[in-house]
Amino acid sequence: MQTKTQTVLPKMMTGTVHTQYVRCGKQNCKCARGELHGAYFYHFVRVGGKLRKRYLKAVEVEKIKESCALRQQQEKRRRDDSKTVWNLIRQIRENLRETDALYGFRGEK
Ligand SMILES: [Zn+2]
Repeated sequence: MQTKTQTVLPKMMTGTVHTQYVRCGKQNCKCARGELHGAYFYHFVRVGGKLRKRYLKAVEVEKIKESCALRQQQEKRRRDDSKTVWNLIRQIRENLRETDALYGFRGEK
């Protein structure tokens, strides 16, 4: 059942989604003999240098995976953009040096 109380998740999120197998802690459970429960989905986020994880309900998994992927794409694009800008700056500096050399200007030293 879809309810109006369903959490609205942000379109982009930091972090990654991973699965983990877990022990429930009960001594007579199969997981105590190494047959772990899972896999369960968790959202891992680095907060102030510490890795935090949050258990994801099945209904959240796809949405949060998508949000994390979008965010990762955005960050990659930003890195690429800044690379482009630095390349431009380097090129401009080179051009200026060449111009200086051509006209015999001396750099301020
Ligand atoms: Zn168990």
